[in-house]
Parts: sequence; structure tokens; C-alpha cells
Amino acid sequence: MISVKFMLDSLGGLERTHTCGELRSGDVGKAVVLMGWAAKKRDFGIFTFIDLRDRYGLTQVVVSEEDAEEAHTKAKHVRGEFVVAVKGTVVARQEGTVNDRLPTGEVEVRVSEILILNEAKTLPFELEKAGSQNLASEDLRLKYRYIDLRRRYLQDNLKMRAKALRKMRDFMDDQEFIEIETPILLKSTPEGARDFIVPSRIHRGKFFALPQSPQILKQITMISGLDRYYQIARCFRDEDLRADRQPEFTQLDIEMSFANQEMVFRTMEGVLNEAFSLVDGDLETPFPRMTYADAMRRFGSDKPDLRFGMELIDLSAEFEGTDFAPFASTLDAGGEIKCIVVKGGADYSRKILDGHQEFVKRYGASGLAWIKLGDETTSSLLKVLGEQTISRLAEAAGAESGDAVLIVAGRRSVVAASLGALRKEVAKNEELIPAGVFRPLWVTEFPMFEYNEESGNYDPMHHPFTSLLDEDVPMFKRAIEDGEKELLGKIRAVAYDIVINGYEIGSGSIRVHQRDIQSLIFKAQGLTAETARERFGFFLEALEYGTPPHGGFAAGIERLVMLLCGTDNIRDVLAFPKTASAQDLMMDSPGWVDDAQLEELGIDIIERAEENPA
Ligand code: ASP
Repeated sequence: MISVKFMLDSLGGLERTHTCGELRSGDVGKAVVLMGWAAKKRDFGIFTFIDLRDRYGLTQVVVSEEDAEEAHTKAKHVRGEFVVAVKGTVVARQEGTVNDRLPTGEVEVRVSEILILNEAKTLPFELEKAGSQNLASEDLRLKYRYIDLRRRYLQDNLKMRAKALRKMRDFMDDQEFIEIETPILLKSTPEGARDFIVPSRIHRGKFFALPQSPQILKQITMISGLDRYYQIARCFRDEDLRADRQPEFTQLDIEMSFANQEMVFRTMEGVLNEAFSLVDGDLETPFPRMTYADAMRRFGSDKPDLRFGMELIDLSAEFEGTDFAPFASTLDAGGEIKCIVVKGGADYSRKILDGHQEFVKRYGASGLAWIKLGDETTSSLLKVLGEQTISRLAEAAGAESGDAVLIVAGRRSVVAASLGALRKEVAKNEELIPAGVFRPLWVTEFPMFEYNEESGNYDPMHHPFTSLLDEDVPMFKRAIEDGEKELLGKIRAVAYDIVINGYEIGSGSIRVHQRDIQSLIFKAQGLTAETARERFGFFLEALEYGTPPHGGFAAGIERLVMLLCGTDNIRDVLAFPKTASAQDLMMDSPGWVDDAQLEELGIDIIERAEENPA
């Protein structure tokens, strides 16, 4: 039998007067109607208490058998997450039963009428426990995202996200930026990732690409004279996911004409300060600046976390002419020997040092050497180098009594990656990272190209629309005209990132606005004139019709909101995130499509990831 009850008015003629987060002692005596979910029910014989919850808060309602017999009987049927409407009167809670932890904790609602608006099955996981600890597995929660989203924590994050977007929009509007929406069905826009592509039914065999970013289009709005563009833009990149990445994400995307780097910096510092004002996080302006080369040298990373020190120290000079074969060959091969100094690390146990050893190996290092300046000096290198050299090294590293020196030797990129990561790991373990502090940084002068070992090409590190640093233009010419290709690896761009607390918040650059240079950059990255024309011909042409000098930036909204919410899980700041393997567990996407649909598109699947159950 179908037990669905059809009601003309599914609210039973009631209208909500207050939210569940609203009532205070000043409301005592008022007749109210609340609607929400039964978060908890406590049955005390003639009294039944229900904690009614909605987005705004929680209010205790009480139904007494004596005052409202019918309502009391109905209340007995209420179970967890039933959707309920109550009508009643606000009363002050008796002394001793006031709940200080609830904003509504001084009052409760004496119910005269109760209406069960909808029932709920037993939840697949308990919401109650889902404070921040004892959470059910994330996969289960993602499958039932609509339930997980009832948690205050996630709702607060979404609220924060909305507020941050609002602040940013207001700021951009004030600064005369125009919000311009660009299409989602696009042609490939290179940001160094794989495109998501969409087949065209009308043009069988042809594909749209989803924007990796609106880069080309925002530049074209500058050619169109729109002067200042912004967009809260959705971007799509089919790349391997990391903890702080999703296949689709949102950027605050901006572009401005007649702008130099300083103007872009001021704009971004302004808009970020607006967002951080939501958490009283005053970002001191101007943000400090550091070149890419310095960041790599001092922190082994292009996104240094400045909340703590422990910079990388170069010991290479100390080993000039060393007999110690592994270090000698490292230096001969152009590598380096660097260290970090851990304050108070002299009491590190063998186990901790072994752990660090394993840790750096994950980044390609062949091992970790150490010196401990305890009551006596000990070192993994003591036997081979001798006491004197060890003391000299410790001194060169600036280590003091009680410290540990952790040393890695190898290729520059390996030393940077492994020691840079170890620096962060140690800071985390030793609790050196202060809470509630935001340390922004501009990282400037990024390399224009990076060598791609697989293809043998020099790929743009940022994207090909980035202009070169004036000083490096002659080198670029030599690289192109005299075929000195390896010089490409040395050319710097007017490209910059904002980093906050070790997170890359976004990137930007001053753009190329001359067609000739743009063509040369395509050539330098290994595109034939034909490919460049085929992919970017429209843009090269556009550059010829009066292109103003321009520049811009894009800031990742998710990472920004992660900082505002204090989470390191990107899925906590998205309503409907994908898993780390790029799936939506609730909708079960990506999914199969009908053969008929494929046929219409002219697509034949030659290999499936798994058997199509259909
Ligand atoms: N389009 C670039 C990005 O998504 C940002 C920029 O250069 O404005 O990283």
C-alpha cells in the first residue's frame, strides 16, 4: 500500500515565524512556528524534548502530555532527521537548565501543535558524531553528500565561501572591473594540463575543450577595450589530483589594460585583504616579495611557507675538494649539498632520523646525513669526515648546541624538493607553525620555460602568453636566432605567484601584446608555425588589431577559502566535490552513456575502464 499522504498545503497551513537559531530571552511569551530537522529527541515520559535544527541553529522544543496531548503523541513518533514543524510559545528555561553553549540556550518552545512534514530513514552514518572527530569514512559521506552537508562545519565553510566571493565582487566592482562571463564550451587554452573535451554532435568528429582558464578570452576583452575584466571563473584541468586540487575549480580571474606589475599587485593585495577581513586576518601590504630563484635557494620551493624559519643552508662550498667520494661526485656533476638546522634536534632518536631518511628518499634523495650537537657531537658522517670537519660544518650551518643538522646532497632539483619538504615536515612535527597567522608573499621572476625531459622541448612554465623580463630578451633572441636552445631555460618572465602559508593562491603575469613576440614564444616552445596558426591563429590575428599592454592574475578560490576556514581538505570548501580519483560518488559520475548517444556523436569506445553493466 502506498502510504504517501497528499496535502494541499504541505506545511499544514503553518508559516515559519523564526529560524531555529533566532530565539532569545527577549522573545519569551511570543507565539512562534519553527521548522527544521529533529536533531535529537529525549523522551521523559510526560515530556518529550526535541532539538530542532536548521541552517541557522538549534532550538530546544518541549512537548508536554498535559498541555498538548495530541502533539505529545505525535512527538513520540519523531525520529532522527524527521522534518518537523512546531507551533508554540517561547518560555524561559528553568534555572539550571540554561545551555550556555547554545545561542538559543536561555529559552525553549512549549509546543501546542506539531506537524511531521516528512520522515527520514535511518541515516547511513550518524550526524551527531560528525562534529569534527569520529567522522564516518569520507567516501560514505561523499556518497550521501546531502546528509553530510547538514553538518554545521560544512555549512559554515560554504557560508564563508559565499561571503568571500561577495567581498571580492564588491571590491572588483568598486575598482571599475566589469564581470564578464566567458563560455564553457571553448577551444583549448593551455595552462599546462590536459583538456577535458566535449564532442560535438553537429560537427561530428570535432570537439570543444573546457577552459583550463579563460586566459585567451580575458586577454581578448582587453583588445576589445573593456579595460578591466573580472570573473569568478570555473576552470577545468584533467590532471593528476593532489590534496589541494580538483578537476574543476574556481578562480577569481582578472585582467587589466595599461597595467604594470605594481598595479596588478596592488589590486590583488586589495582584494585579498577584503577576503581575509572576514577572519580578521590583516595581510600587511605591500606583501613581501622574493624572486623564484631566491625562493628555490632559500626554501627549496616556489611556494615557501614563511610562518617559520629553518631555511636551507648551502654547505657546498665547505666540501670543495673533499675526498669523500659521494659528495665530491655530487659537486662535480653540478649538484649541491644543503642542510636545515633543527633547533633542539640533538635529542632526535635513531627512529626519528630513520623516518626523516625515508621521507627524503620519497623525493628522490639518496639519503640523509646528520649531525647532532648534544653533550657530545655525533654524526652519520663522523667516521668519514672526522671531528674537525663535522664541527666546521655545524658552524657553517649556524647550528648551536642542542641542534641537529640534516644534510642532503644531490641534484639541485632533488635537494630542493627533498629538503624543502623535510623543512615543512619537521615544522609540522615540532609544532613550529603558529596558528591564526597569514604570511603572504609575492614570488616573482618565474622562469619562462622549463625543460620537458620527455619531449625535449621547453614548455612555458606558466603559459605562453607571459611576457619576458626585458633584461632577458637578448638571451631569448640568441636562443631563437642562433639556435642556443638551452638558453630558454634561463629566461625569466614577468610572472608572479601569490603564496600564503605555503599555498599557491594564484598566478599572473604581464602579457605579451605584440604578435611577433607571441609567435616567437610559440616557436620557442616547439610549436610549428602551422600548429600555432591552427590552435591560436585567431588570437595571433587579434593581437594585430591594436592590443594594449595588459596583465592580470587568477586566484584560486578553493585554496583561499581553505585558508579562511582553516582546513587542508579542499573537499571541505566545495558543496559537491570529487574524490581524489576524480569521481562524484553521489551522482556516480563519470558514468556510461547510451550507445545511441555515442552513435549520434560518431564515437566508438575502443577500450573501457571496466565492463559497462548495461
Ligand atoms: N590563467 C592563469 C592561470 O589560470 C592566470 C593568469 O595568468 O592570469 O593560472
